[in-house]
Amino acid sequence: MATSRKTGPRRTVRAADKLKKLYRRWRSGHNALSDLLWTKTLRTSSYASALPLKDQTQLRLLATQILRIKSFEGASGLNVSETMRARIALHASIPILNIGLDYYADWTSIVIYPGDFRVHDEYMDEHGVVHREIMDLCGQSLSQGPIVLSWEAMREEDETPADHDLVIHECAHKLDVLNGDANGFPPLHADMVTRAWARDFHAAYHQLCSEQDTRGASRIDPYATEDPAEFFAVMSETFFTAPHLVYENHPAVYKHLQRFYHQDPHSIMKQR
Ligand SMILES: [Zn+2]
Repeated sequence: MATSRKTGPRRTVRAADKLKKLYRRWRSGHNALSDLLWTKTLRTSSYASALPLKDQTQLRLLATQILRIKSFEGASGLNVSETMRARIALHASIPILNIGLDYYADWTSIVIYPGDFRVHDEYMDEHGVVHREIMDLCGQSLSQGPIVLSWEAMREEDETPADHDLVIHECAHKLDVLNGDANGFPPLHADMVTRAWARDFHAAYHQLCSEQDTRGASRIDPYATEDPAEFFAVMSETFFTAPHLVYENHPAVYKHLQRFYHQDPHSIMKQR
């Protein structure tokens, strides 16, 4: 009896602490994405809008967690609003909807510029000659650092929805580098066949590169022909924005992406 009197209250205190902690966590997340903000934000993705309620609920949970654990930093004087944060968090949640937040464990920050931003790049070619170039970018994923985004580019996507999704594109690069260099080869699941992925991505990449007028033939963004890493990133954003383009032009790649992301956007979108 003595033991139960001692342990009883302690257990109650521990349970109460746990409940308080859970409540605080729920409240911080809940405040981050009010019903109104969530409803408005969902409209920025045709795919997310078309998903069944249970998937939307999971997306909201993931987006809330992203808002809590990643830092959102404005650059060049940009004041990052709740709308911006919610929009980015939702789009970042889409690729990991069915594979989980652990896939984003290697990075912590998202930097947002008002528009395109200038970077100074330096690289060595196959002859050992070092090249320096200045580039204006709308997005960048630094292998040991943050994702960098242009808010203007995201606004344009929302005004004229097409097959672009900057956030998904940069997040796909983050998935790609989980097993080393950015090469269009993310860590595959145990039930996937590495050789089949390499064969089919290689064939699709070269098919796209060999097309004279890429955009005219398959309507896949020609930026995909830049290199295999960009091919994977562009295919991923197209998979979630205009899945029929991947499904019809590169069915083998579609199947691999479907298995990798555990999602089937083409089936979801064609029901609309
Ligand atoms: Zn890219």
